[in-house]
Amino acid sequence: ARAARAAAPLAPGALADGTRVPLLANLGNADGAAQAVQLGAEGVGLFRTEFLFLGSGSAPTVQRQQREYARMLREFPGKKVVVRALDAGADKPLAFLNDAEEENPALGLRGLRSLRASEDILREQLTALARAEAETDAEVWVMAPMVSTVEETRYFVTLAHELGLRTAGVMVEVPALALLADKALQAADFASIGTNDLTQYTLAADRMLGSVASFQDPWHPAVLRLVQEVGTAGQQHGKPVGICGEAAADPLLAVVLVGLGATTLSMSPSALADVRESLSRFTLPQARDLAAAALAADGAASARAAAAEAAAAST
Ligand code: PEP
Ligand code: MG
Repeated sequence: ARAARAAAPLAPGALADGTRVPLLANLGNADGAAQAVQLGAEGVGLFRTEFLFLGSGSAPTVQRQQREYARMLREFPGKKVVVRALDAGADKPLAFLNDAEEENPALGLRGLRSLRASEDILREQLTALARAEAETDAEVWVMAPMVSTVEETRYFVTLAHELGLRTAGVMVEVPALALLADKALQAADFASIGTNDLTQYTLAADRMLGSVASFQDPWHPAVLRLVQEVGTAGQQHGKPVGICGEAAADPLLAVVLVGLGATTLSMSPSALADVRESLSRFTLPQARDLAAAALAADGAASARAAAAEAAAAST
């Protein structure tokens, strides 16, 4: 029986009432792809591309990028793979894109801001990605990191479409964009919430700084309200809203995030099993009840406790 259980195909992510919540993997390079599939990843919700650029004095060629992207995409035939454009700066500085002298790099030229300042690098990356998609059967979605405005959203989505990528979206990591999600989602094909940075910017606490680490808690109702803004905008426009920050890997918070309107969850592959199990225990109305309980709290700890209490009452 144990062997049969181990060999059984993993059920796709779903709530108890059958509402589908695709469970996707966060990957930092192509090497983890096969293992993610084994652990039940239904696709990739965040492919971080920094590994290709780090430790090098210049950007890799279009050919080299195309080869690396194709190598990863081949592991996901027929599946959705969300690739993030280079997120240089702040915790991931690159000599050829970032200014090492910035006093507040998390508030500086990072993510899409730095790509836009060196647009040739962005164009090359998007071109390599479009070519890699053309030589595989995966469905590529591309998204930009660290987007603050609707204008930046339009800029990125237009450029990605122009360079041959059909589905282009933005990461919601900055409170300003979360608050204008209804406008951003008019322009973008989808949004994916990066709860690590969204928490950092909402609580004004550097995620790299141990002395303020206690503020870095995505259960904070201020963060949850922003997630709800994006979830509601996604429903209004009929556009997908994913979560790709660490929050999605917390089994109880995952249910809350779905209750707030998230349509997919992406996480480290090792977290997939527990999140799948947790989602299967709640219906969509129950997930919404958990979300309402957490939203009504006045802090992270009480939000978590309120959701746990609502969960205990509904199962
Ligand atoms: C995030 O900010 O939540 C995210 C997924 O991106 P990263 O952790 O790579 O900044
Ligand atoms: Mg981020």
